[in-house]
Amino acid sequence: MKFNIQSRGDNDSNILSQKIKSYLQEFHLEYDEKEPEIVISVGGDGTLLEAFHQYAHRSQETSFVGVHTGHLGFYADWKPDEVEKLVIHIAKTPFKIVEYPLLEVIIRHNNDQKSERFLALNECSVKSMEGSLVMDIEIKGDHFETFRGDGLCLSTPSGSTAYNKALGGAILHPSLASIQLAEMASINNRVYRTIGSPLVLPQHHTCMLKPKNNVDFQVTVDHLNLVQKQVKSIQCRVAEERIRFARFRPFPFWKRVKESFIAE
Ligand code: NAP
Ligand code: MN
Repeated sequence: MKFNIQSRGDNDSNILSQKIKSYLQEFHLEYDEKEPEIVISVGGDGTLLEAFHQYAHRSQETSFVGVHTGHLGFYADWKPDEVEKLVIHIAKTPFKIVEYPLLEVIIRHNNDQKSERFLALNECSVKSMEGSLVMDIEIKGDHFETFRGDGLCLSTPSGSTAYNKALGGAILHPSLASIQLAEMASINNRVYRTIGSPLVLPQHHTCMLKPKNNVDFQVTVDHLNLVQKQVKSIQCRVAEERIRFARFRPFPFWKRVKESFIAE
């Protein structure tokens, strides 16, 4: 089996990555950066986000597993002192695969036939370059509201514990194929009105954001910052593709939530 290792790049992560690499090679697994069947991310959740984006085009072929060199992560849930155990598990393929939903974002521009398509593992956020963000929000093709405020965040279930949580969004179990729309400081008064609550949309319910006046935006897709000019629309829905995690032992989502936010 072919593997690759993605390190956060700090000294501890690099040393641990080297160790995992030589262990796996001792088991006659092949190091391959181009077409790995498993990618081991060593660092934090941010490192796994980077690994995912590097191989997002291989969603059917590549599985991920994360080792944390800092605090426990949502995606990086193996401890550094467990890597011997992890390596033996990986060498004893086939392994169990768990799939999580992803967010599909399609950005269309004025005077441009081409659209840009992104996949997010955590979320897509949209902010204005200048002044308030003003956007019409359509759900399943129908106008829902006109949003005025700091910005909007569309997250996946596994991303619901990241930026979305800081915005007062709900934590969603990744078995729910859905996306969540959370507001950033909406303006609400007698003139402007938004729903005010986070919305959870099921599969095939498209959420379309359409600019009212300004057409230039700061858009993030996970850790990536994009400046988008002359935007006609930003379309979000549950993606057809899913991310695959290699699962070698049970680590229930709610236990991870508890250990990350409440207590170990
Ligand atoms: P970062 O600034 O290191 O990320 C912020 C924190 O979010 C880190 O502690 C990171 O963990 C954690 N994180 C990432 N994905 C998570 C998840 N699914 N559940 C719970 N925590 C998660 O930047 P980054 O590492 O490149 O991560 C990018 C993410 O930062 C974005 O996708 C966004 O969700 C998040 N973010 C959060 C806020 C906020 O909460 N106000 C603002 C902007 C962005 P590690 O330290 O293990 O990497
Ligand atoms: Mn990080």
